[in-house]
Amino acid sequence: MGCIDKIVYTVLCKQCGNQSETSIRDSGSNFGGSWWGSEGNFADFDSAWEGGGLQEPKLLYIKCKKCGSEQINVEWNYQP
Ligand SMILES: [Zn+2]
Repeated sequence: MGCIDKIVYTVLCKQCGNQSETSIRDSGSNFGGSWWGSEGNFADFDSAWEGGGLQEPKLLYIKCKKCGSEQINVEWNYQP
């Protein structure tokens, strides 16, 4: 069983090209299981999250602050 250390979220506004990224750390251990941070913060985007703690955080809502668009391309990956 691998140990995940953080999720990196990358967001790209499809309307104006505004781009940002944030990472959320898992501060748990191999023995105690995961313990996630509850949310990330993007520069120039409004965001809302759920999860944290035992549950892996998920991005619920994202909106571009520069142009107000909610048409946002969201990608995430796990990094050690
Ligand atoms: Zn935008």
